[in-house]
Amino acid sequence: MSVSEKEQKKKRIIMMVLLAVLLMSVSIFLVERKESSYIVVTFPNGAVVEAEVADTPEKLAGLGEAALTEKIKTIGLYRSKARNLIALSRKLVDEHGSKVPESREVLETLPGVGRKTANVVLNVAFGEPTIAVDTHVFRVANRTGLAPGKTPEEVERRLLKFVPEEFRHHAHHWLILHGRYVCVARTPNCGACAIRDLCEYRDKSA
Ligand code: SF4
Repeated sequence: MSVSEKEQKKKRIIMMVLLAVLLMSVSIFLVERKESSYIVVTFPNGAVVEAEVADTPEKLAGLGEAALTEKIKTIGLYRSKARNLIALSRKLVDEHGSKVPESREVLETLPGVGRKTANVVLNVAFGEPTIAVDTHVFRVANRTGLAPGKTPEEVERRLLKFVPEEFRHHAHHWLILHGRYVCVARTPNCGACAIRDLCEYRDKSA
C-alpha cells in the first residue's frame, strides 16, 4: 500500500470513528470489497446497517438526508442523526478539506458534536489522553468516590487530575465497561466487582 493510500485509509477510519460515536453504535468496521469499501455498523438494538456510502465526507454528503434517513431508520433518533451527519459532512468538505479536525474547539463546531463526542474522537482516532464522561462513567465516578461531581465536566476535570498519566488513554473505556457490565444503573453487581474493597458506595449489593 502506498503512502497516499495509507493516508486515505487513515482518513476513512477517523471518519468512521466519528460516525460510530455520533450514531451511538456498538461497532463499526470497514470491509474491503472488489471495487469499493463498505462500512458495517451494528447498533445496540441489534440492527445492522451495511453501507457503501459513509466512509468519506464526500460520499455521505452526496447521499443526501432523505437517503441516509432511510438507511438508518432502524436506530433511535434517526431523523436528527441523519440531519446532523449530512450537515457535518458538508461542513467537513467545505471548510476542513474533507478531514476530521484534530482540535477540540473545531470538532465542537461540527453539527451534533459536543464535548463528549469530541473527547472520544480525540482519544480513539488521534490517541490523545482525553476522558469522555458518558452516563456510565458519570455513575461509576460518583458511586465509587473516584471523581465525584455534579456535572460531566466536573467529573471529567477530577478524572483528568487523579487518573495517572499512563492509564489516561484507556481510562474511559475501562470505566464505561465497568459501568455497562458490573456497576450497572439499577442494581450494581457488587458481589462480582473487582474493586469492591476500594469502592465508597454505601448501598452495595450482596
Ligand atoms: S462495589 Fe458495587 S457500587 Fe462499587 S464499583 Fe463495584 S459494582 Fe459499583
